[in-house]
Amino acid sequence: MIKLFTSTNLLLLFYVAAFAQSTSGNANGQNTQRRRFQPKPYSIIINDVAKTKVDTAKIGVAFRNTYPGFATADGYRTKREVTMRIIDTAKSFTIKAIPGEIVVNGKWLKNKKNLAGLAQHLDNAFHKNWSSVDTVKKDGYSLVFINKNSNFDATIQKNLIETYFEVYPKLVSMFNDKATHDVVFVTDTAYNGVAEASGNRILFSTKYMNKFPYDVDVVTHEGMHIVQGYGYSYGRDLVWLTEGIADFIRYKYGVDNVGSKWFLPSFKAKPQGYKDSYRVTARFFEWIDQKIKPGMIVAIDKQLRNGTFKESTWVDLSGKTLDELWAAYSADPVLHLIYSSKNI
Ligand SMILES: [Zn+2]
Repeated sequence: MIKLFTSTNLLLLFYVAAFAQSTSGNANGQNTQRRRFQPKPYSIIINDVAKTKVDTAKIGVAFRNTYPGFATADGYRTKREVTMRIIDTAKSFTIKAIPGEIVVNGKWLKNKKNLAGLAQHLDNAFHKNWSSVDTVKKDGYSLVFINKNSNFDATIQKNLIETYFEVYPKLVSMFNDKATHDVVFVTDTAYNGVAEASGNRILFSTKYMNKFPYDVDVVTHEGMHIVQGYGYSYGRDLVWLTEGIADFIRYKYGVDNVGSKWFLPSFKAKPQGYKDSYRVTARFFEWIDQKIKPGMIVAIDKQLRNGTFKESTWVDLSGKTLDELWAAYSADPVLHLIYSSKNI
């Protein structure tokens, strides 16, 4: 849904036609229905400082046709509320836009042609915030690479794209053939983590990638999150399991874990240590795969996706509770690990 309201005289407050929120990461319709949190609607407040009395409905249509698409690709932290200031200014200035804020010259906007073409002008103005956009297609898969950092190393970009085409189609065909074939990578200067996936988009921190350019199997971990598509029904309690599976899959199918300087940590005794998540859990899962039941973690991934996973799943599949499995692992954690490498 999109809200539009003008603020100068608080003339009107109305809703424009609903906008279908993209949830393409959840190929499984059931997961989409279980989505818990509705995202905020997109809205625009028009502050007509120049008192142009321009047709706000037309501005609303132009906004609806451009901003949600831009913001969806830009990142989920991208502001959903936008303020447009119509100002009285020098002739040469037309329009400028950053996420959450539009400034437009009132005299320019009063021109019928400019108002009629506002959607295109807005679209261009917003996309100027991106340094580059590249689309690569191969064998039924596509990747849109949005780079928001003009200092981002082109070699890293190339390596991330190559890793995507090497590993992602494999993950889709092995674990979830309903997962999307169309993925968006966004490099973000403002993001302080490593990377994260939501819907069909993977957000990379350019600070991290510039510092650790060899860590290309971030794509494998995040790509697995898209393939997992568990939806939001499990809440925070099973984040450790989701992350553990993503790292377990990275361990097994990463294209170059040695080159990525990525290894599983040695075992440390700790009650319920599996909750440490990520690589600690991944090592435990590899132990289950080798010593208890091959394919069990993949079966759990499937159950998480189709909504049948329960606490008793551990017992159903292995005869042991999760804590019993961890206790058995703690008693004999020795494992032979083999890491992928492009140099072998
Ligand atoms: Zn993750």
